Amino acid sequence: MVLQPRLRADLSTLPRYVPGRAAVGDPEFKLSSNELPYEPLPSVREAVRRELGQFHRYPDPGSTELVAALADRLGVPAEHIVPGTGSVAVTHHLVRAAAGEGDEVLFAWRSFEAYPLITWAAGARAVQVPLAGESHDLDAMAAAVTDRTRVIFVCNPNNPTGTPVRRDDLDRFLDRVPRDVLVVLDEAYREFVTDPDVPDGIEVHLSRPNVAVLRTFSKAYGLARLRVGYAVAHPPVAAALRACAIPFGVSGPAQSAALASLRAESELRERVERVVRERDRVTAELRTSGWQVPGSEANFVWLRLGERTEAFTAACEDAGLMVRPYPDEGVRVTIGTPAANDRFLKVAHDWNV
Ligand SMILES: *Cc1c(COP(=O)(O)O)cnc(C)c1O
Repeated sequence: MVLQPRLRADLSTLPRYVPGRAAVGDPEFKLSSNELPYEPLPSVREAVRRELGQFHRYPDPGSTELVAALADRLGVPAEHIVPGTGSVAVTHHLVRAAAGEGDEVLFAWRSFEAYPLITWAAGARAVQVPLAGESHDLDAMAAAVTDRTRVIFVCNPNNPTGTPVRRDDLDRFLDRVPRDVLVVLDEAYREFVTDPDVPDGIEVHLSRPNVAVLRTFSKAYGLARLRVGYAVAHPPVAAALRACAIPFGVSGPAQSAALASLRAESELRERVERVVRERDRVTAELRTSGWQVPGSEANFVWLRLGERTEAFTAACEDAGLMVRPYPDEGVRVTIGTPAANDRFLKVAHDWNV
């Protein structure tokens, strides 16, 4: 018998992360990964180009300039900000810092696919509270808290359904959660939120020591390939996060591009506004075609298709569109260029007539 390295006995229980399929065909019609459909801004490209001559040097391990710019922009002390290689990496570090064997990590389901995986990686137990309709069931989540709960994720707005948690509901929930349980507001899509009743997690964080926020440059800022995101957390949590992080995680080009993006915020805001207008147009046209679509505060829409999920995905593929199927549940479709959205709307319209 060939002896193999011994791996974790529970490896077969590892939840699989199914990424958006690799782009086939025209990337303009890849609506499966919630990317921005616009190419990097000239100023951001230039910032990355300036890094070329320095690839032989390690990057600044503390991302000092980026952290200072973020602190200024968000109105929080620099000490609260911890960048990482995408907010998914920061999420790994957060869970690693707070939960281990025998602990529980609580989140809604369906929500972001990385949560079960990250919980598993830390050796903790995932407690998944079904959505009510397409939204977080915060009452059920509060009721599911035990003395083993260490981390609670609230994905706001929720991936993949696009639904938000509103201020009053979040406040009531946070009042019920024990003060020694870390609540993580995952705001990967914050920049696309237009509903004034959806709270800004940074403000919530400032008045509640057990609340941390995750943000990313991957979505609205259009830097998905460079891998940079961050947590905003109170000093004890932030320090634990830094201790659990991989040294030199955020590359020089990623730091520089993120910094340049913060400086180009008005140009980027205009792009986000375009996406939001398209989101609202797509939602309205889907409803006109007879679809029931939850209102999305993100850059994607959710179609609950149940057992017709695969057939709809195939119809999209036949039209040259890549969307994200969740087998037997539904399909998430990223808002792209008007041409890509029109193509999707035609498939959706023809499907329903
Ligand atoms: C895309 C996404 C992220 C961010 O991913 P990065 O690692 O920063 O690219 C985090 N949370 C949710 C819910 C997301 O959809």
